[in-house]
Amino acid sequence: MAYDFDLYVIGAGSGGVRAARFAAGFGAKVAVAESRYLGGTCVNVGCVPKKLLVYGAHFAEDFEQASGFGWSLDQAQFDWPTLIANKDREINRLNGIYRNLLVNSGVTLHEGHAKIVDPHQVEINGERFTAKNILIATGGWPQIPEIPGHEHAISSNQAFFLKELPKRVLVVGGGYIAVEFAGIFHGLGAETTLLYRGELFLRGFDGSVRKHLQEELTKRGMDLQFNADIERIDKQADGSLKVTLKDGRQLEADCVFYATGRRPMLDNLGLENTGVKLDKKGFVEVDELYQTAEPSILALGDVIGRVQLTPVALAEGMAVARRLFKPELYRAVDYKMIPTAVFSLPNIGTVGLTEEEAREAGHDVQIFESRFRPMKLTLTECQERTLMKLVVDARTDKVLGCHMVGPEAGEIVQGLAIALKAGATKRDFDETIGVHPTAAEEFVTMRTPVAG
Ligand code: FAD
Ligand code: NDP
Repeated sequence: MAYDFDLYVIGAGSGGVRAARFAAGFGAKVAVAESRYLGGTCVNVGCVPKKLLVYGAHFAEDFEQASGFGWSLDQAQFDWPTLIANKDREINRLNGIYRNLLVNSGVTLHEGHAKIVDPHQVEINGERFTAKNILIATGGWPQIPEIPGHEHAISSNQAFFLKELPKRVLVVGGGYIAVEFAGIFHGLGAETTLLYRGELFLRGFDGSVRKHLQEELTKRGMDLQFNADIERIDKQADGSLKVTLKDGRQLEADCVFYATGRRPMLDNLGLENTGVKLDKKGFVEVDELYQTAEPSILALGDVIGRVQLTPVALAEGMAVARRLFKPELYRAVDYKMIPTAVFSLPNIGTVGLTEEEAREAGHDVQIFESRFRPMKLTLTECQERTLMKLVVDARTDKVLGCHMVGPEAGEIVQGLAIALKAGATKRDFDETIGVHPTAAEEFVTMRTPVAG
């Protein structure tokens, strides 16, 4: 049977665009449907605008530290609407770039909500198109628990478009988004509380990293409330929000921001017309080749719920395009050693195993750890400390994990990730000459284990 397209991609986000462009480049006839915004979550309400806001928030401490270097600034003023308008302009520019990328690579772009009507057919804007393969790349959506008053809370989707900076913000959650946005609001001058239901935020990160960030945020004056959960939110006559915790305490805020994870975006997608199966958490179930239970339908990115990071969605998109249209180039995505950063203030950068994971996996673990006051701060009042940590297998000398909390941690860990992927040993680290004077050189000068 002749199909309208070889591949019909639903979702022009990180993974969908990558798969569509490369498939078209390999000679396939490709269409991509997008209902909301070109570039998906990362470009519009994720990584990119978030990083711009983090840069904005960072200026507060830059101004504070400048006086130690002889600079005197008049009272610094911050204007939220200017930051948001400039951010919006940049995102519009990126949307245009995505449009050109798709069109110039020969992909047909359909703007509207796509619904699968049978395993080889998609309906969009009242028209139907057939395809040999359909790729679900519809991403995720913020998930807010349905407590009484949850309608008064916002998620990251709204946070990027607030008309003004709230005076008092209560951020709920202890994952990437909660920690990053608490840093943004705090840095920009809002009274910020971060409220997390567990003992210590950032579950799954290295214990030293979690503790160190807790100490640094406390030093900066952020209010951290752990072992705390919200029972209800009530809007008061003056528009502010009264938040009642499960332990009976009450807090007041002008904005309650939930960052409690993301669900797969499957709304009105028509999966009931296919044999696609979902896993226990509701994400689309795929095998190692991103194949769903329906032979003609594949899925990747956040909607499969593996690793919800843009570079992972990109790698999966590339793998799918190659597998379908250039099998001789196909390489499976390697999910080990994925580096990641949390753009909190200060940043976290991490790659490889945490100390806890390494011990759990039965490694004979050696730990190297360094905490120091960065050189840049020595002329300032700022007492911030940087943490660097290496997790090493004592038997093989392999470096299993690198972890950092401090300025530019993400930038530093990206380079270390290559070394770890190449199987670097602690001896390789020791024999690498440092770049002086930098903070990063500490990673090659830690000689004495702090724990074995
Ligand atoms: P998405 O990028 O979400 O794209 C899915 C697209 O499908 C969307 O554009 C959507 O509108 C469209 N769509 C959905 N349903 C339909 C339909 N039926 N018809 C047509 N179109 C449809 N990752 C990082 O690596 N680094 C970061 O710093 C980072 N920061 C983040 C900050 C925030 C606040 C958030 C929310 C996420 C962040 N992420 C970050 C995660 C990253 O954004 C995602 O992992 C990535 O965007 C996933 O790509 P995707 O292609 O799977 O889905
Ligand atoms: P995460 O899964 O990272 O964190 C969710 C947090 O919410 C956890 O602390 C979780 O607690 C808590 N939580 C979950 N359900 C509830 C509930 N019902 N009540 C109270 N607390 C709850 O999700 P995020 O929303 O922060 O981010 C989604 C994903 O997006 C991230 O996992 C990451 O993959 C990606 N991302 C990446 C970024 C980056 O690379 N810098 C930045 C932002 C997002 P508990 O730990 O107890 O389960």
